[in-house]
Amino acid sequence: MRHVAVIGSGPAGFYTAEAALKAFGDQVCVDLIDRLPVPYGLIRFGVAPDHQSIKAVSRRYEQVALSPNVRFVGNVCVGRDVSIPELQSLYDAVVLATGAPVDRPLELPGSDLPGVVGSAAFVGWYNGHPEFTDLNPTLDGPGAVVIGNGNVALDVARILSKTRREFEGADITTHALEALDRSGIVRVTLLGRRGPHQIAMTPKELGELGHLERAQPLVDPADLPDAGADALLEPGMRKSVGHLRDFAATPPAGKPVTIEFDFFAMPVAIEGDGKAERVVVERTRLDSEMRSIPTGETYVVPASLVVSCIGYKTPPIEGVPYEHGRGRFANSDGRILPGLYCVGWARRGPTGTIGTNRPDGYAVVDLIAADIGEGAGRGGPEGLDRLLGQRNADVVTFTDWQRIDAAEAARARSGAPREKFVSIADMIAAVRN
Ligand code: NAP
Repeated sequence: MRHVAVIGSGPAGFYTAEAALKAFGDQVCVDLIDRLPVPYGLIRFGVAPDHQSIKAVSRRYEQVALSPNVRFVGNVCVGRDVSIPELQSLYDAVVLATGAPVDRPLELPGSDLPGVVGSAAFVGWYNGHPEFTDLNPTLDGPGAVVIGNGNVALDVARILSKTRREFEGADITTHALEALDRSGIVRVTLLGRRGPHQIAMTPKELGELGHLERAQPLVDPADLPDAGADALLEPGMRKSVGHLRDFAATPPAGKPVTIEFDFFAMPVAIEGDGKAERVVVERTRLDSEMRSIPTGETYVVPASLVVSCIGYKTPPIEGVPYEHGRGRFANSDGRILPGLYCVGWARRGPTGTIGTNRPDGYAVVDLIAADIGEGAGRGGPEGLDRLLGQRNADVVTFTDWQRIDAAEAARARSGAPREKFVSIADMIAAVRN
């Protein structure tokens, strides 16, 4: 019997478990360990609440978790309840699938002012992540600045602009829905330090901005390169840039909220009297290698909320080799040290779609198959249970999670799939009551 521990029950963790089942059949035991009492990681806490069709992939993960050869071991924090060396002594392979849940820091003067938040915190707040429930972002308005030109920046701009009615069927937490309903934000400025051909926004997500009830996306036609240059873009990018061209060509419709694309715009400071009030922005131009070069020309964008959406990093774990520059574990194609692997964003950084994690999971299992043979008869799940029992860990099983799931569904707003519990205590109470 092979014993595999996967740390993190998001997409990368589940695809690894699925691949292990495919490769080893009933000759493997996989423990999927998560610090939270609820599974699915990025699907629950990262994917936007109004993108329910993307979240449907969790049904596939559920099938994996229901296999007799897989256990969900929730509410167990590696580093607090059990250490990596202890796991290595119990399992033939330990796979870090911990994702990249930490914001890359916005290293600007004023980035510590109240009103400035990272996307991990802001997205975590509206998605009910226990760590960010109390974020209480400044939504007084009238201006918000979103830094970055990726899909997360798009998510944030859209969530800030939607009406309550547009959240019908979404599992946005009620605390966020009500705060957004009272929001005074009427101008969302998206700052991109490069140009329309350098955005990291996918066409479907960008196109959505053109169909919002009370918000209109605005693009300055002068920022767009000659239309002929689009022919050199790959098809997805060409479509995205096509949306920007449509936005630039659409006359103002008199909607009360604007989403303004400010290209060639690099934030250089955030200023205000004890809180964020404005972002100082420097105009950029592109050099021949499409890098942004500051021009010295600056201007000010008033904003009481600043959300930086400039990418994420994996939190380091003591004793595990780490690449600080890239914010991920130091690894060679997924191998970190003998018996220790990483997968997904923890391996390659925060890029790609959820589906990109599938081949990742299968590839790491190929390495494991080559490295561990038939397994060394280690303590595996029984050994882990013994350790956790000694430490009085309050383990949440998959059956427990199904109770939480049912309780969340039972208390959902009308039309919504669930109302998430937003504290660990409430999640546990739903299991134990
Ligand atoms: P991302 O795609 O890497 O975009 C980060 C953006 O931040 C880029 O525009 C980058 O500009 C900019 N940036 C980085 N450092 C900056 C700085 N110091 N100052 C100003 N701008 C800076 O990251 P993401 O948006 O966080 O998304 C992460 C991954 O999740 C991506 O693969 C994304 O596609 C995926 N995702 C997908 C969906 C979806 O499919 N619905 C939704 C959300 C996220 P440069 O290009 O100039 O570096």
